[in-house]
Amino acid sequence: MTPKGHVSLVGAGPGDPGLLTMKAARLIAHAEVLVYDYLASSAIVAMAPADCEKIYVGKKSGAHTLTQDEITALIVRLGLEGRRVVRLKGGDVFVFARGGEEAQALRAAGVPFDIVPGLTSAIAAPAYAGIPVTHRDHNTSFTIATGHEDPTKGYTSLDFAKLANPKQTLLFLMAMGSLSGIIAELRKHGMPGEMPIAIVREGTKPTQETLVGTLETIVDQVASTGFKAPAIVVIGEVVRERETIRWFDNGPLFGKRVLVTRATAQADDLATRLWEAGAEPLLAPTIGIEAIDDAAFRDAVDTVATNAWVAFTSRNGVDAFFDRLTAVGRDARALGGVRIAAIGLKTAEALARRGIHADFVPAISVSEDVAAGIIAASKPGDRIAFFRAKDARDGGIVALEAAGRIVTDIAAYRTTTVIDATIGEHLAHADIVTFASGSAIDGLLANVPDAATTLATKLVACIGPVTAEAARAHGIRVDVTATDATIESLVAALDRSLASA
Ligand code: SAH
Repeated sequence: MTPKGHVSLVGAGPGDPGLLTMKAARLIAHAEVLVYDYLASSAIVAMAPADCEKIYVGKKSGAHTLTQDEITALIVRLGLEGRRVVRLKGGDVFVFARGGEEAQALRAAGVPFDIVPGLTSAIAAPAYAGIPVTHRDHNTSFTIATGHEDPTKGYTSLDFAKLANPKQTLLFLMAMGSLSGIIAELRKHGMPGEMPIAIVREGTKPTQETLVGTLETIVDQVASTGFKAPAIVVIGEVVRERETIRWFDNGPLFGKRVLVTRATAQADDLATRLWEAGAEPLLAPTIGIEAIDDAAFRDAVDTVATNAWVAFTSRNGVDAFFDRLTAVGRDARALGGVRIAAIGLKTAEALARRGIHADFVPAISVSEDVAAGIIAASKPGDRIAFFRAKDARDGGIVALEAAGRIVTDIAAYRTTTVIDATIGEHLAHADIVTFASGSAIDGLLANVPDAATTLATKLVACIGPVTAEAARAHGIRVDVTATDATIESLVAALDRSLASA
């Protein structure tokens, strides 16, 4: 008997990766095969594991890569081959997405499946345009309809006499091609020409655009602006509420393309915050992290209990330290009576995940401040171990030694330069470039030697004064510098700077 696989029919939501359900995120992160179409956003596809087979099946209207029958046959075959398949669809699985047919074919073939509903663009895209699909002042129902009927059924199976009721909200999907026909039918059945209408394209994404007009004006507006699918057409009095509810597409960072130069493992925080602000993160990891794990490092971990204080300067150091402890069958108790300092909240969080509460986290994330805190809470002759990046700045260590502390300075990891052709392409497309460390600047310059010239035309933002100084040393003009060297303050500083520009 052949092994039976499993197919999950998963709604990817309208685009913003933050709108993915937790169940969908978990299934994608463990998928063996991902079958996706053009509406699934690339940030979501990128959540699949590196060794997952990703099959693009297209389905952009008019440019079908595979027909629906071929897609259905594909997922049935993969299931029968015993694969764990995630069939990812834009929005919801059953809202004009042919998920019903796919489920029926799987059932007929005896392939086990489950259904993970997604947030439909019919509701989410208007919401991100500040348009509530219901509002007590205006309507008690809404109708989601297709503007692209099965051609064999003919156009008129929609009951326009009912749809023309001004007391409901109409939401049309796939209606850009039939807009003038739909409006003509609604007018014919008595809907007034002043009825507000909005068209929201690429809803919930940094590329979202909204066109607002009336039934009378909209067709001309679409023609003159070249407004295109994929879009939701919203018809009803609720459209007026955008004036007071608009929130997403008017923020300072909305629509901005932001280069993120951090190492992949660290880029997520910044990327998530950027998505939330309506910006599009362009991931360009110019550096990677490599554990050092040499004799000096191993010895320092093995004898860690001889220190009065141990300082970790980043979560990479924390990870390297605990990896070594685990490798030799030990755990957090090795730190027994040792006091712990952490530079940065992220470092403190990494410690907390290991059950360690940091005794000292300086307000400003620089090594001089961590040294000052340790000096205040130790005495001359005490041993202090620093687990940090190879070749990092050592201002704090100099200060500790000057104060008579015995410092073991341990390189726990090194940053390596990542060379990748997409980094230069992303740089060219970016509006804003962010640097979270001096090594990320070196990494960008290694990829794009004349980056300073390109950067002169972009907004350059650095996570803190030390990184800004490193940028200037390379002749890079810095426009925005965050004050306390955290991702949160970097995004906040960008927001402020753009808002006042
Ligand atoms: N299952 C999807 C709909 C698929 S039909 C859902 O529930 O959202 C394809 C149509 O969905 C497009 O033609 C467009 O009308 C709409 N659509 C999908 N994503 C959209 C988005 N992000 N913004 C606006 N419209 C979108």
